[in-house]
Amino acid sequence: MDVTSILTNLNAAQEEAVTSDKQHLLVLAGAGSGKTRVLVHRIAWKIQVDNISPFAILAVTFTNKASREMRERIDELLGISLRGMWVGTFHGLAHRLLKAHWRDAKLPENFQILDSDDQLRLVKRVMRSMDLDEQRWPPKQAQWWINGQKDEGLRAAHLQEGGDPFLATMLRVYRGYEETCERLGVIDFAELLLRALELWKYNPQVLAHYQQRFQHILVDEFQDTNAVQYAWLRLLAGTVSGVTAVGDDDQSIYGWRGAKVENILSYERDFSNTHTVKLEQNYRSTSNILLAANAVIAKNADRLGKNLWTDSGEGEAIALYCAFNEHDESRYIADRLQSWVNDGNRREDSAILYRSNAQSRVLEAALLQADIPYRIYGGQRFYERLEIKNALSYLRLMLNCHDDVAFERVVNVPPRGIGERTLEVIRNLARDHTISLWEAASAILKEKQLAARASNAVASFLQLINEMSGQLDELPLAEQAENAIQHSGLIEMHRREKGERGQARVENLEELIGACRNFEPEDKDLPVLPQFLDQVALDAGDRQADQDQDAVQLMTLHSAKGLEFPLVFIAGMEENLFPHKMSLDEPGRLEEERRLAYVGITRAMQKLVLTFAESRSIYGSESFNSVSRFVRDIPKDVIEEVRLQNTISRPTSYAASAIRSDEGEATGFHLGQQVSHKVYGEGAILNFEGNGPRARVHVSFEQVGTKILILASANLVAV
Ligand code: ATP
Ligand code: MG
Repeated sequence: MDVTSILTNLNAAQEEAVTSDKQHLLVLAGAGSGKTRVLVHRIAWKIQVDNISPFAILAVTFTNKASREMRERIDELLGISLRGMWVGTFHGLAHRLLKAHWRDAKLPENFQILDSDDQLRLVKRVMRSMDLDEQRWPPKQAQWWINGQKDEGLRAAHLQEGGDPFLATMLRVYRGYEETCERLGVIDFAELLLRALELWKYNPQVLAHYQQRFQHILVDEFQDTNAVQYAWLRLLAGTVSGVTAVGDDDQSIYGWRGAKVENILSYERDFSNTHTVKLEQNYRSTSNILLAANAVIAKNADRLGKNLWTDSGEGEAIALYCAFNEHDESRYIADRLQSWVNDGNRREDSAILYRSNAQSRVLEAALLQADIPYRIYGGQRFYERLEIKNALSYLRLMLNCHDDVAFERVVNVPPRGIGERTLEVIRNLARDHTISLWEAASAILKEKQLAARASNAVASFLQLINEMSGQLDELPLAEQAENAIQHSGLIEMHRREKGERGQARVENLEELIGACRNFEPEDKDLPVLPQFLDQVALDAGDRQADQDQDAVQLMTLHSAKGLEFPLVFIAGMEENLFPHKMSLDEPGRLEEERRLAYVGITRAMQKLVLTFAESRSIYGSESFNSVSRFVRDIPKDVIEEVRLQNTISRPTSYAASAIRSDEGEATGFHLGQQVSHKVYGEGAILNFEGNGPRARVHVSFEQVGTKILILASANLVAV
């Protein structure tokens, strides 16, 4: 195969990056300029032209899905299969290392990965054993804090409490949590990375092996690496390997999770002999979309600064729909999607993005109603569903009965008469003797400490697990799963549950058996169940969904990073929602929200639709927000305001304050009237719009400025 095909469809700057023969390469460029494409082609170039073995290449992507795609694209370019090449996420790669070197990493051979839910459960347990009041010390906060320390590479032993009672408590929990994880042989996501870093730090011979192996390391989405990931890269690169990093400072959106955009700045210092390339042509979006994105991000200070342009045409205007409420918003999106599909487009070429996961529920309902298949990318996914987690817990116990997290989860699911009191006895014994819950339960049975009923219940649970794990070696994975689901009584429990939900759960459990049947272990010589459980845990962390049906994709703005779709909706463009209200008082966080808006807008290739709602019920309460500042930053001439026909007497601008004089009499209010609103306080009526239940009123409030409200629900009171 000849090298020119690696270079076709690359512009001059992209080609310069792909072929650069300096040791290191930094590509710093805006959205849609071909960074990921450069990375893929550079790998092909290294293999084809520089004769580097695929075995000597390590590529880091942001999601497992991205790594699968990367592999496919390189396969395609080179026409050879790339077995032996390491491509994966930081977490996936760390897991692979720890599996290979579990002894050096001081882990048990069959260590288990805790997902965020399991981690929280364990943190709670530790806090309970310390008698900490959950009201005063929310376990979620402790979990967050611990992960934050780990992301910085800090263990409890590295930290000093000083005089701060908050820190002192967090530190105590951190210590207890570390000990418990150690004892149970489980590790959380942040721990994967930190362990992998320490593996190299404390085992120079292991590090040397990988330093010799990997001649070239490539990292996509470099702006979102955290301190531990960056340290890991530097260690691995040593002085000999080459490192290619591609990223965009304007798309750094994981600061809240410890990502450090400064890593881009440190890069040129830490990796001398670097060739830096900027890419400026955007190949993804129409110029209207790009104009909007550039205008929004321009408001941030301290940018590295880039000039992004496109030679594709203007394209359509950006649609802006002002909805009455979240239901109206969702209906509008569903309608619009349906007509797009009717025009012959595929649903999977469209995406609905939102700031907060909670927004998906109403969107889902509207899509269901309109019979539009959808896929949630990153929400409650298959492996995170309750019934599936329960089934997996049985499988985990079959593999390792000392898995306390799994034990806690299913010891009384389905209910078998093991109550909180019995459990407390087991927990206490386990804690006092630092043994597993399984061992504690066995000991308690032997010593006949429980009443007959409870004792029988515990005994039959232990027996159930023992029986199932006795058959581990003989049965194929799917049959093991089937046994677990049947014999545990899980499937029977959900069969008896009434309605759709029980039905869906039964189907999910059946689907799990299907997943086991289709599972292909990486290593055919090793037992398959542990490999399956690890894959599941990693997939759940990755938050991706894979299905074959043509479906619109729903996802948070965060998980849309790196992706592109011909049609993109961004729902909920409102102050307090996006930008998120938690960010409003902190300039740093507000800038991160703005970058998130930039990421969202730049996902769109042909058409972007922005929607906002005048009133919204979310998180259990109703709020009235004005349109997002990010919408206001978009030049008016690329926006087309959409109004549904018939419901509105005339179009208004979202910034409008034009006074109308002929309406409103029938409503009991009149122009200029002083009114009061329970949230906004007092103000004067400026305008009426529409009639019937959807009639709206513009009020200029003394405290918060002009708001457009639905008359019927605003509960205005004449003053
Ligand atoms: P993001 O910042 O969103 O991750 P990116 O910089 O990684 O974007 P890519 O996803 O690599 O950009 O490319 C964006 C789109 O432009 C893709 O569809 C890609 O195939 C296309 N593209 C990139 N370079 C070229 C080129 N030289 N000719 C034609 N199409 C290109
Ligand atoms: Mg990319």
